[in-house]
Amino acid sequence: MLSKIVGSVVGTKNDRELKRMRKVVTKINAQEAGVQALSDEQLQQKTEAFKARFQKGESLDALLPEAFAVCREASLRVNGMRHYDVQLIGGITLHEGKIAEMKTGEGKTLMATLAIYLNAISSKGVHVVTVNDYLAARDADLNRPLFNFLGLTVGVIYSQQPAQEKVDAYQADITYGTNNEYGFDYLRDNMVFSLSEKKQRPLNFCIIDEIDSILIDEARTPLIISGQAEDSSRMYALINTIIPVLVRSKDEEANKNNEDEDFWIDEKNRQIEISEKGYEKIESFLIEVGELGENESLYSPSRLPLLAHVQAAIRAHHIFVKNVHYIVDEGEVVIVDENTGRTMPGRRWSEGLHQAVEAKENVEIQAENQTLATTTFQNFFRLYDKLSGMTGTADTEAAEFKSTYDLEVIVIPTHKPIARVDMDDQIFLTKLGKYKGIIREIKEIQDKGAPVLVGTATIEASEELSYLLDQEGVKHNVLNAKQHEREADIIAQAGSPKSVTIATNMAGRGTDIILGGNWQSFIEDIDSVSADEMQRLKAQWQVKHDQVVAAGGLHIIGSERHESRRIDNQLRGRAGRQGDPGMSRFFLSLEDDLMRIFAGDRVVNMMRAMGLKEDEAIEHKMVSKSIENAQGKVESRDFDARKNLLKYDDVANEQRKVIYAQRDDLLDDMDLLDAIEVMHHEVYNAMINQFIPPGSVDDQWNVDGLEDELEEEFKVYMPLNDWLDEDRRLDEEGLRAKIIETALAHYHGRREQMGEQSAAQLERHFMLQSLDKHWKEHLTQMDQLRKGIHLRGYAQKNPEQEYKRESFELFQMMLGAIKSETVQDLSRVHIPTKEELEALEAQQRADAERMKMQFEHNDVDNLSGEPQPTPRPQNQGERANGQMRVNLAGGVAAGASASAGVSIPDDASDAEPNPYAGMNISRNAPCPCGSSLKYKQCHGKI
Ligand code: ADP
Repeated sequence: MLSKIVGSVVGTKNDRELKRMRKVVTKINAQEAGVQALSDEQLQQKTEAFKARFQKGESLDALLPEAFAVCREASLRVNGMRHYDVQLIGGITLHEGKIAEMKTGEGKTLMATLAIYLNAISSKGVHVVTVNDYLAARDADLNRPLFNFLGLTVGVIYSQQPAQEKVDAYQADITYGTNNEYGFDYLRDNMVFSLSEKKQRPLNFCIIDEIDSILIDEARTPLIISGQAEDSSRMYALINTIIPVLVRSKDEEANKNNEDEDFWIDEKNRQIEISEKGYEKIESFLIEVGELGENESLYSPSRLPLLAHVQAAIRAHHIFVKNVHYIVDEGEVVIVDENTGRTMPGRRWSEGLHQAVEAKENVEIQAENQTLATTTFQNFFRLYDKLSGMTGTADTEAAEFKSTYDLEVIVIPTHKPIARVDMDDQIFLTKLGKYKGIIREIKEIQDKGAPVLVGTATIEASEELSYLLDQEGVKHNVLNAKQHEREADIIAQAGSPKSVTIATNMAGRGTDIILGGNWQSFIEDIDSVSADEMQRLKAQWQVKHDQVVAAGGLHIIGSERHESRRIDNQLRGRAGRQGDPGMSRFFLSLEDDLMRIFAGDRVVNMMRAMGLKEDEAIEHKMVSKSIENAQGKVESRDFDARKNLLKYDDVANEQRKVIYAQRDDLLDDMDLLDAIEVMHHEVYNAMINQFIPPGSVDDQWNVDGLEDELEEEFKVYMPLNDWLDEDRRLDEEGLRAKIIETALAHYHGRREQMGEQSAAQLERHFMLQSLDKHWKEHLTQMDQLRKGIHLRGYAQKNPEQEYKRESFELFQMMLGAIKSETVQDLSRVHIPTKEELEALEAQQRADAERMKMQFEHNDVDNLSGEPQPTPRPQNQGERANGQMRVNLAGGVAAGASASAGVSIPDDASDAEPNPYAGMNISRNAPCPCGSSLKYKQCHGKI
């Protein structure tokens, strides 16, 4: 109320913005005479001139009036359409990175050309986003002549597009495509193996058409690329056959060096070790079956993953026991929780162990369907330097656009005053009564000679109505948003006299309904049309058009109120374009979901008390009001749900940014040696800590253990006991320094043997491989964490804080695992030959190829149609949100990634006490949290 009073004195913010923009419109109009005087050629040369001025430092804002005037004049010459002044305001709005709310039929497609043209001058790319492929191609085709005239190129992206064509589309000045395709391309670009394979340029400016559909309605469905990380089921089965042949040491400790045995097991720690003889046996087996070349070894760079298979198979056979650690239930291996004895269906061991057990049990080896990459539309679109959008209905969601995307909504006045009449709702007792009322109304409208569009919320409702209309013999079309192109044709004719069209909310969107029908679409199907024929068709159309106008224009019937007022407004907005006459009315019944759940008893009682018959309706302000209240409640509930999803994805988003930036650095050929050295320090220090706690005295040390572990993990033998004997003054710090120094010297020695180039290649390979592998596993873990986190609410914990804290811990553990795996691989690998390095490259290319094939299959299907479960925190209170930054391998992140951090709450740094502290868990055993790290590397960290 107060804002209304204030608004009427100083004008609303929207009014003030419009006033400001009108001044710019005056400037644009002032340029008009000048550009009109230019020849076509001179007009076309303007683009190059603008580009040159921009390069010299002139801003796009400064160029705006002249550039808009050029675009408007070019449009008039090319398309015969001169942008209206309100369209100029729309163009300014988009250029300013805001949302232009313009009613249906106001010409948003043409309006957008202004901002597209201006921003294309920067040559950094302009992306136009549409809700389906049909609209992307249609709008590109509509605007291409104009842009080509102005010397700009236009590209269209679509799914399963040939690679080069897509690259060209992204290189074009202006690119059209769907939100899904842009999002998927972004994810795919972050899975490539060289920078040259990336398709997108840095995300610069984007205009989202029907922005409310994309950023609000679709925002609860994340984009997911999933697939099999690797199809190795054959390999698991093959390696499974060698296990019975390998001889296990009987006495694990005493026989450690027994030459006859192939491997021994540390049962306590659930670790295995393979003897030299064992390796030889495995290698000759693999050579025999053709998995290893004659001169290859398991320590060849490309064969290390094979070694992991063998280790998993041995563990599956000799450590994991059926009916103790797992059961086999209906052909599936189900993990048993050792602490509780309960089965954990759906959970799988990681790192190939689960498949190895499946091979052992001779059940189907399940392909791991892993999330390879995921993001939400919210977080994807926020990556653009500048984001803008247009729609007929944004104002009801202005608060959400502001808070989620920092986007302002400008409500732009219509070119001509709106002549549509919006009638009050008609309310019936039952659904059947409502349908009868709708059919009666349709017939009346038809009798007048006017067209009618009936909007339904569901396909079922469309079908029910269609059935009843058939029974009454009323001819009609039914659309349900499945065949975009055909529907666009039908919708284009939905304005013909007496036509009846039933459509779900989504159907035929983006296509204008022209009173009298769209006569131009008739010509499109004819090869050549004479001028006379054209005149005749147009005259025919004019008669129909006049007939429809006289009958009151397009009539809209809503067969139900949608949960969101915005969707209702979209339906209403289909009538009354460009000052056309029109009518809209909603028909409701007390049996509609929204009414059942939200309409107060007062309404129901009142209607019953009135003694209405089934097909009688009432129109009452109180009812309309109570429905709007109900819609308001649902809208704010949905907004909360989206906010919640976003809160969770924000955490993942920061991590995603860090990992993607790291990946880019790795692909960018930068020197990794510094980073590798830092990693050595960290990884060795962490290992030393397990045996020689920092600040401890020497009788707390486990020197033998450390000696063994160093040899086992990194294949470096260091005579620690000798060092200590030789130098009595060697303290903890000294020893630590000497170990790391030796390790680094060892590594540098190996590097020299390899040669700089090979070493650098291997470093990049192992790091990238490890980063990708652990990131994918991390995504799965995050997913599990999110699904389970709402239970924390019951334990008096704030799920959101818990999620932040735990995902941060998981992320840190992942970084640790990447580092230690990289150092381990680099220390273990054989000095590769030239051929081996070539094989490695070939493998990487094959991996890339495999990914590509998967993408092609995944394109359409993997956009999960199911909304993600949205956890609802019990306690919404925010805590102080301090920040801490982590970075993978310090030195690696020299560039952009150095600033990309992970935000965690202050209180997360002083992590909770170890929940397993009281339990007697071996340090080398897998951590009971299920992270697949050793306990000592995970919750058991000192
Ligand atoms: P919206 O997307 O806003 O509903 P469209 O972009 O589909 O509207 O445009 C509606 C119709 O108006 C189209 O046929 C378009 O060619 C026409 N139109 C738009 N702007 C102008 C203009 N300035 N002059 C003449 N016709 C226009």
